Amino acid sequence: MKARIKASNDLWFDLFKQTARVQEVFQHESCGQCGSPNVKFVCRFDSSENDWLEVVCQECRAKVVFGRTKKGGQIYPKIRWEQLSDKQKEQRINEKTHAEKNRGYLPSGGWFIYKPSAVSKGS
Ligand SMILES: [Zn+2]
Repeated sequence: MKARIKASNDLWFDLFKQTARVQEVFQHESCGQCGSPNVKFVCRFDSSENDWLEVVCQECRAKVVFGRTKKGGQIYPKIRWEQLSDKQKEQRINEKTHAEKNRGYLPSGGWFIYKPSAVSKGS
């Protein structure tokens, strides 16, 4: 009996953790740039076959990107500067100052508008 109670406590604990994680993902249900609720969850694959998740605003094209922990493969929204990959840091260099002043947090809750023109200097 005791063992069963413990198991169910563990289950609750596990469910709670999962729910917290899901909430963290789905709190991005409206755009951090323009506030529009018209956002779309997108999953695609990059060239090295990694699946890639992002939420894209259908109004202003801003998006928030998600990462995945190496251990456990949990999905989390990239809302802090150090969560960005080197390439993302390069693309979003204009957000660095804000992050430094705000304990590492990116502006607009991690929502940004990708401007390819800012990085491609050669063309
Ligand atoms: Zn928007």
